[in-house]
Amino acid sequence: QKHGAAALIPPKNPSLKANETRILVFVRVRPLAKKETEAGSRCCVRVVDRRDVFLTEFASEKDYLRLKRLRGRHFAFDASFPDSASQQEVYSTTTSELVEAVLQGRNGSVFCYGATGAGKTYTMLGTVESPGVMVLAIKDLFSKIRMRSCDGNHVVHLSYLEVYNETVRDLLSPGRPLILREDKQATCFTIQIKYIENEFVGLDISYLCHPVNCSINSPDSNLSLKILTGIIAAGLTQYRAYSTDEVMILLQQGNKNRTTEPTRANETSSRSHAILQVVVEYQVKDAAMNIINKIGKLSLIDLAGSERALATDQRTVRSLEGANINRSLLALSSCINALVEGKKHIPYRNSKLTQLLKDSLGGTCNTVMIANISPSNLSFGETQNTLHWADRAKEIRTKATNANEDLLSVPETETDRAKLVLDLQKEN
Ligand code: ADP
Ligand code: MG
Repeated sequence: QKHGAAALIPPKNPSLKANETRILVFVRVRPLAKKETEAGSRCCVRVVDRRDVFLTEFASEKDYLRLKRLRGRHFAFDASFPDSASQQEVYSTTTSELVEAVLQGRNGSVFCYGATGAGKTYTMLGTVESPGVMVLAIKDLFSKIRMRSCDGNHVVHLSYLEVYNETVRDLLSPGRPLILREDKQATCFTIQIKYIENEFVGLDISYLCHPVNCSINSPDSNLSLKILTGIIAAGLTQYRAYSTDEVMILLQQGNKNRTTEPTRANETSSRSHAILQVVVEYQVKDAAMNIINKIGKLSLIDLAGSERALATDQRTVRSLEGANINRSLLALSSCINALVEGKKHIPYRNSKLTQLLKDSLGGTCNTVMIANISPSNLSFGETQNTLHWADRAKEIRTKATNANEDLLSVPETETDRAKLVLDLQKEN
């Protein structure tokens, strides 16, 4: 069920510098809920040409025809989805390109942002009948892997975790909170030591921008060492996935483990962020027949409800921070602001969420934001705030280099090279 959706993505912004890309921002309007209709609410948003969103307090069908005379505001996005858009259309337009990038050893992330009840979890997880981005991405990933290899070379691991009240929990294996550990160097290397007929000929170090488990393998004469550094959630379950079938059940189960707010016993908390990380590892051979480990990571994030943490002016931000209402969401906004302003220092360390997503926001990652909104005029204020936030997120520029393949400078002398290997082994 394809809608030629990729064609909806406009060409990359021409004002960007050669190696720059920016965050892609999409808006999805959900259908009016029965409760909203019963309360006599009207639609206050209108998707125009599947691209822009027009927000007005009075936008009935008749009013819309007189659009020019209405007071309201146009917001332009990479694409906007009306309430009739299917899950598949949303997936194809927003995320399928990231899945392709992950299969080339890059990182990508998709955030769903918006007020509680705006449709974030529906978009990310969906239902058994209408699975969302998380499930469709994994389905697509497996079908792309099947298309390109039949040698079982690709290994897919899933982790599903929650940040609630600055506590990180494993949603696949609930228990004690996870500790985040940060290594001195927030990076991860693959080292390849090259031998030809037992003669040491060189050393390749590739930078990886996310943590993976350490492994040593020596196919024939080449020793390849993966060193673990960066931020890790110690003890996090890495579920080895073999097919799509098991994933929906796994994720639904995981979602049941999300923290519920004491006051609303049956509802998953509007303050919990859920992060699904899909890590794909595989090996390729370069021209010289050296085996190179490649890793790509896709992070899919169902953010906490934005209603209580939306604050654009610094005083409100601080008072909310004082109340510790949702430190992680505020920190995410601060990081986005710092990225937009091109600041050198991005305050990733201010919250658990931003620590976990350090390699998935800005930098060298391909990032997608989906802003979810209700069409009801009863949610006008929240919708307006979400659209402003999304409008700002469009300004984030990222460098489109291939982080996972950047090379480090290799020490000049053989003694130094040997020392580096020893140091890295020790750290490990
Ligand atoms: P959030 O996670 O943002 O709090 P939900 O995803 O739980 O919001 O959505 C609230 C309600 O609206 C749910 O009952 C959900 O099934 C429904 N809903 C949201 N988006 C859609 C959509 N695009 N189509 C149909 N129902 C939707
Ligand atoms: Mg939700």
